[in-house]
Amino acid sequence: MNDTAAQPLKLFNSLTRQMEEFTPVHPGEARVYTCGPTVYNFQHIGNMRAYIFADLLGRTLNWKGYKLTHVINITDVGHLTSDADAGDDKMEKAAAKAGKSAWDIAKYYTDAYWLDIDRLNIRQPAKWAIATDHVEEMIAFAKSIADKHCYELESGLYFDVSTVPDYGRLAGMQSDDIEGRIEAVEGKRHPQDFAIWRKTPAGETRQMEWDSPWGKGAPGWHLECSQMSIKYLGERFDIHTGGIDHREIHHPNEIAQNQAHNCSEHSGANIWMHNNFLIDRAGKMSKSSGDFLRLQVLVDKGIHPLAYRLMCLQAHYRSELEFTWENLVAALTRLKRIVMGVEKMRAKDNPSILDVENAIASTMMRFEEAISDDLNTSVALTQMERTITASIGRSTAEEMLREMDTVLGLNVLNLARTDLRLAPKSASISEEEIEEKLDQRQQAKSEKDFATADTIRDELIAQGVELMDGDALRWDWKIDV
Ligand code: AMP
Ligand code: ZN
Repeated sequence: MNDTAAQPLKLFNSLTRQMEEFTPVHPGEARVYTCGPTVYNFQHIGNMRAYIFADLLGRTLNWKGYKLTHVINITDVGHLTSDADAGDDKMEKAAAKAGKSAWDIAKYYTDAYWLDIDRLNIRQPAKWAIATDHVEEMIAFAKSIADKHCYELESGLYFDVSTVPDYGRLAGMQSDDIEGRIEAVEGKRHPQDFAIWRKTPAGETRQMEWDSPWGKGAPGWHLECSQMSIKYLGERFDIHTGGIDHREIHHPNEIAQNQAHNCSEHSGANIWMHNNFLIDRAGKMSKSSGDFLRLQVLVDKGIHPLAYRLMCLQAHYRSELEFTWENLVAALTRLKRIVMGVEKMRAKDNPSILDVENAIASTMMRFEEAISDDLNTSVALTQMERTITASIGRSTAEEMLREMDTVLGLNVLNLARTDLRLAPKSASISEEEIEEKLDQRQQAKSEKDFATADTIRDELIAQGVELMDGDALRWDWKIDV
């Protein structure tokens, strides 16, 4: 419909701390690696913000005409409870607590994560790279850099960060961060040195352990992302994404390993991109705090998952986003307005050709300008809304919306108003029963039998459902989350 190649895609590179035009390593292709979840627990909705962002990026690259290869890893081994190389393996700890095997824990939470990926309309990547499937290759990777870049301690094999140029450039390393890490492991040469292989302590057995030249043990968390990204995307690929916390330790460590492995000063990926946090009143949403919101909680309240996706897209991915129920219901309302707008648009007549041409050109141009400007989704969303109300013929508008939605992924052409209903918390009857009574009431009203209509309304009130006659958004009943 429009010439999407006309506008260059500009992205903010955390490594150079500036906007850069996307120029692929392999012409016509885009290769993207996303740091995925550690599957020792459910993902909270803050984690899912990271994947909504990565999905938006992938969709944009596809829309711009690049052949996308997207890899997301699943960390099912090696991530310790502290980023300072101390503490337990998160998987082993969760398994011990649940009285299950670490493998069962990994499977259970990976499946739960994939369900949420689906519910948020996040597209399947070309590859889900599972860490435990790659341990032999990680050992080979470690062996290839051990002589020049690593040293062995009783607890494992450590990467010496002084052996690569510019360590910590991505993070803009802070000194207090360094202080925190020096005491964690005895014998480290530099506070920032990190484990690439962790030996199982003498006399202990871990559920997840492998033989290696440095003894039985497990890979350090950072090793998997270097090894798997290089394996699937090449020594130099286009974009690496993750949450902003990865900018401080995980990604600088990956970069150091990439430099060592590739015998190059280059960081491995041309552009490093980071989404900011979802926060709530208590601060950053995190799994370790124990009490966190997962997508299922929203679903249980009757809130459509795509309302959360819209909530994320309303903010720029590099801004903090505050979660409140009010914000979420506002996003749900907005999504409902869009969906109802589409219904209305489908029923309208075609306007004049001239109006159509002008409206298409300016709306698509602004949409593309916004997305090309480091994925400015909040402006892009307003152009989507503009398409619904502008003087554009039905089929053209649908085509434009389809194109915009390939980027935004809100499924606006397929959702129905009723998909976005919220069941009232106070209701003592099921949604189907409410629907049935609403139909009966509608029937009574159309037959001008107002006494029956009122009786049904009173019955519903007694069952905890307050109707909203005349509500412009046709919620049908009062929202109550
Ligand atoms: P984890 O499962 O802890 O490895 O985290 C998975 C992804 O979620 C990583 O990219 C994190 O950087 C990201 N993340 C963690 N907490 C948040 C948050 N509150 N908001 C946005 N992203 C987050
Ligand atoms: Zn990673």
